[in-house]
Amino acid sequence: MTLEILKVGIVSCSGEAVPGGTISRIASRMVLDELRPDATVTICLPLFIAGGQEERDFAATYPTITVDGCEKRCAQRSTEKLSGKPGKSLLIPEILEKHGIEKPTSLRKLKPEETVAVQVVAEVIARAVDEILES
Ligand code: SF4
Repeated sequence: MTLEILKVGIVSCSGEAVPGGTISRIASRMVLDELRPDATVTICLPLFIAGGQEERDFAATYPTITVDGCEKRCAQRSTEKLSGKPGKSLLIPEILEKHGIEKPTSLRKLKPEETVAVQVVAEVIARAVDEILES
């Protein structure tokens, strides 16, 4: 008997222009490296959009979670257009509002209080991974 180990692809927006994009990238990295390293793989959004076949095939075959820094939802829209509907689509401003966390303002080096936002978002992503794998 073979056991299939399912992985979830994390597609984080690559936003550099708004703090939500910074939170998205750092929190996604935290899930990939620390919270769910065995259950997740990263899908590089710029390569995905540029035509990376491996990334597109993975996203078409395995479940994905998109994480977007603002309402433009670049990761979600690209995934839907190029590979299929994401398993879950997360939006940083919605997560922060739901948890009563003030919107961060830093684009690069986060202030100590802004690391709380990263931690909360990372935990939301990790729970989304668990929900997909349990479903
Ligand atoms: S979703 Fe917003 S922050 Fe992310 S890449 Fe698109 S425009 Fe930039």
